[in-house]
Amino acid sequence: MEKQIEVSLNFDQDIVEHMAKNYPKRQFQLLAKSLDARKAPLGRKPRYLYKILLDSTLKLDFSVKPQSLDSNPIIIGFGPAGMFAALRFMDYGVKARVFERGEDVQNRMKSIAKYWRYGELDSESNVCYGEGGAGLFSDGKIYTRIKSDFIHYVLERFVEAGADKKILYESNPHLGSHKIRKIIKKLTGKLQDFGTEIKFNTSVKSLLIENNNVIGVKLENGEEVLSDHIILAAGHSAKNLYKTLHTQGVQMSKKDFALGVRIEHPRKYMDKIQFGEFAGKLGAATYRVTHHDHSIDVGTYSFCMCPGGYVLSSTTDQNTLVTNGMSNDSHNSPWSNAAVVVAVKSKQLPEEVFSGFDYIEDIEVKAYKASKQYASGREMPAITLKEFLDDKMNDKSLPKSSVPSKLVKVDFNKIFPENIIKQLKIAFLEFDKKIKGFNLDEAILIAPETRTSSPIKIDRDKFKLSSLSISGLYPCGEGAGYAGGITSAAVDGIKVVDSILS
Ligand SMILES: Cc1cc2nc3c(=O)[nH]c(=O)nc-3n(C[C@H](O)[C@H](O)[C@H](O)COP(=O)(O)OP(=O)(O)OC[C@H]3O[C@@H](n4cnc5c(N)ncnc54)[C@H](O)[C@@H]3O)c2cc1C
Repeated sequence: MEKQIEVSLNFDQDIVEHMAKNYPKRQFQLLAKSLDARKAPLGRKPRYLYKILLDSTLKLDFSVKPQSLDSNPIIIGFGPAGMFAALRFMDYGVKARVFERGEDVQNRMKSIAKYWRYGELDSESNVCYGEGGAGLFSDGKIYTRIKSDFIHYVLERFVEAGADKKILYESNPHLGSHKIRKIIKKLTGKLQDFGTEIKFNTSVKSLLIENNNVIGVKLENGEEVLSDHIILAAGHSAKNLYKTLHTQGVQMSKKDFALGVRIEHPRKYMDKIQFGEFAGKLGAATYRVTHHDHSIDVGTYSFCMCPGGYVLSSTTDQNTLVTNGMSNDSHNSPWSNAAVVVAVKSKQLPEEVFSGFDYIEDIEVKAYKASKQYASGREMPAITLKEFLDDKMNDKSLPKSSVPSKLVKVDFNKIFPENIIKQLKIAFLEFDKKIKGFNLDEAILIAPETRTSSPIKIDRDKFKLSSLSISGLYPCGEGAGYAGGITSAAVDGIKVVDSILS
């Protein structure tokens, strides 16, 4: 009879052997696997915790009946939200038309290499723009905090496209940068074989609207393409498009967001302080640290932790600098990094709906100017954690780092507002209490981490998921304010399509 059980084993015990011994001849499926290494620094053996389904297999049914629409729906943007919207349309037998401003994977990689090596940014095709969108191109940590059965839909599509089956049960599933591009190509190919039209290097300039109904899009090249269903999945960096849509009457509001720095430690050091004598036996260590300053009700937290990873320069706009992070699935670079970001409350910014974008842009421009003042403008501003906490720069050069476009030493007071610097300092002191040794003097802070979440929300109906002001328009994914990461963006794409066709 079907039953769910929990099993806890030492990290070096084999779950398959355990099941064969304790539940002979019973069918089982791993539902979840997570590591508990909290006591490892004290010498206690880390354990894996498993959730297991006995005598059955979990099978969620995502099938739908074929449907049709009067005109082919349009999807703006081919990140996870746009891609999974197109895949869901395919389930219904509907051929979507996708417009993506960036290049396909191969050409995009060349454009990115040019930027990191020579500082020549292609503002149409870069770490955030192109086939697969932002993180789905560059990293692929696919865990999420949202709750939805569609998470399984997303994971199953990745497995069908070549991802390791372990992503179906691991607590921190990760596709990894050098595998992910093949997975994206497979998903793109599947859509194209079905008849989904995907146009790269094609930017949408504005909407075509009649009597508050959307009737199509106008492309940057002047062409007009008609449809009465438009999914807007343009990501968190498409501020110019959002500004245009706002002038066209698309209702938007400000929302809270977060920004800060990337912190980079040597990987072996991070593994040692987290795993103690077990370092090297458990893969690269991850962490998540948070601090809430109750006196002003502001949170500071780590985000997008990349064990054995790289810190990347990842802006989309000329004369700005932005950091982000990624890892290969082997997690074997000599460094581990994470964003450490401070919450910014929209009510503390000017009334104007785009004030969050202006606040972010000001920091990104200052980072670029500082880099240009002391180097060529392509190097990322950085400082050691000790210098940052002491508020005193020394003459020593920075330790080696993973950043492909190199670093330049900069006083962060030149980049960030005072309150952000203050909150970061308070939070680092607290983090060191939670993970003893976190505040390594030679850890490097790299700035600025500004694109973790969208500073606007494109208002939509809670149930129909369509724009509150323009009918037929479906704001979707991270840029519209409904997701924060690959999987939640993909799930939002699926939900929007279900709401259009159900
Ligand atoms: C380097 C990096 C690493 C990341 N790693 C992770 C990770 O490991 N895990 C995770 O969960 N999240 C990660 N993220 C965040 C993640 O990428 C986003 O949360 C996610 O991609 C949002 O999906 P989306 O589809 O809403 O938007 P996006 O992925 O941003 O996609 C939007 C797409 O729209 C296109 N577009 C924009 N404007 C237009 C226009 N006018 N016309 C046509 N097309 C347009 C863009 O080119 C882009 O491809 C990372 C981000 C970066 C930059």
